[in-house]
Amino acid sequence: MYRKRINPEFKWERYQNVTSKTGSVTGGFPQIYKPTFEAATAHRRLAKAYEEGVLSPLSGENRNQSFIVSQWLSHYGLLYPETHFNNIGIKIQKDEGFEIDVSKNVKFFDDFFTHAGVVWWIVQVFNLFRRIEHNKEIGLNPSKITHLDATSLKLNVPNPLRVRPAPSSNLTFMPADWAERKIPATEAVQSQISLSSSATTWDATYLDLLRLIGETIQENLADNVQFTFVNWVNNFVDYPRSNYEKHQGIASDNATYKAQGVFQPKTLSAFIWLLLAEEFEEIPNIDFDTCAGYFDKEIASGDGKTKQVIGCKNVLKRSRVRACKYCNKLVFKKKEKPNSNNGRLLLTTTQGITKCTSKENPSNLHEHRNHQRNWCSLYCRSRFNSKSKNLK
Ligand SMILES: [Zn+2]
Ligand SMILES: [Zn+2]
Repeated sequence: MYRKRINPEFKWERYQNVTSKTGSVTGGFPQIYKPTFEAATAHRRLAKAYEEGVLSPLSGENRNQSFIVSQWLSHYGLLYPETHFNNIGIKIQKDEGFEIDVSKNVKFFDDFFTHAGVVWWIVQVFNLFRRIEHNKEIGLNPSKITHLDATSLKLNVPNPLRVRPAPSSNLTFMPADWAERKIPATEAVQSQISLSSSATTWDATYLDLLRLIGETIQENLADNVQFTFVNWVNNFVDYPRSNYEKHQGIASDNATYKAQGVFQPKTLSAFIWLLLAEEFEEIPNIDFDTCAGYFDKEIASGDGKTKQVIGCKNVLKRSRVRACKYCNKLVFKKKEKPNSNNGRLLLTTTQGITKCTSKENPSNLHEHRNHQRNWCSLYCRSRFNSKSKNLK
């Protein structure tokens, strides 16, 4: 998987005990974690934060923008290093936590939701790429679409001009920048004609969208990743860890070498842009399921009372083609023509066979094997499990 190309040793800090009230967020003790393992779909969670905070604000007590930011900080941490925020006047100090007061730090919220908005826009286009039908296949596969088709295939996407950067945003390049830029005479961008600042949607060609997303990801990663080799020495068997740490770089005689180049994100923001790059490359081979901890849950606590655990609202990435648990054939979801099976989603082999012939199968339709992972992260699972331990 592509995530192997992100340094698995990349570390970031999230915060414990983050609390929010209208207009302010206070935190928390920093806790180091590894986003490659614990935040594999953070880009989609950030897109969700935009929906909850801007597009259709959450209802309910104190479910405002401060609440959404506090949730994000406890799961993933700040988008940029603390020094960045200290420079713009937000006091964030290691071990001492922080206080973000909206009235004093409008920039922080502007930047967060601008970032979330741009990521949301790209995720909407990805969703469309994955579910649209072309040449009788669901999901657009750029390697199977000719240049001519790509320039004539029109897609209706949210208007990028409506997801505008706040003046204080940190992002260097937006979909809106691409959509509005000056076009060299040699390059035909048909989609620009249909771009209007007041419309809610935009009719763009598939080719223009591919270019736009590619360039937006590239620009936002430009100065924010480093290339590095990990595990030059990959055998420390004879080397006690403490020794290794003391004499880093000195390997034992039995150590072996391995060249593995990876991208090292400089910030959590860059990590999120790498996840977008990953998903961009994987369309149309993936789907997303909701995490087992997606929804808020009432969980009994020790004193007999119930406690609400806030759902993660996160998803898990799944490979679209997986084995049937009865016949082992590789199958994927495909919509039948409306006149057969009421147009429902059926699992089919690449040859289009929807009938499962295994004798073990109580029905005659394929069924995917259960997933081994149902939680977006260990941290997410522990939030529910540690509480349910108290159940009597
Ligand atoms: Zn089957
Ligand atoms: Zn989760």
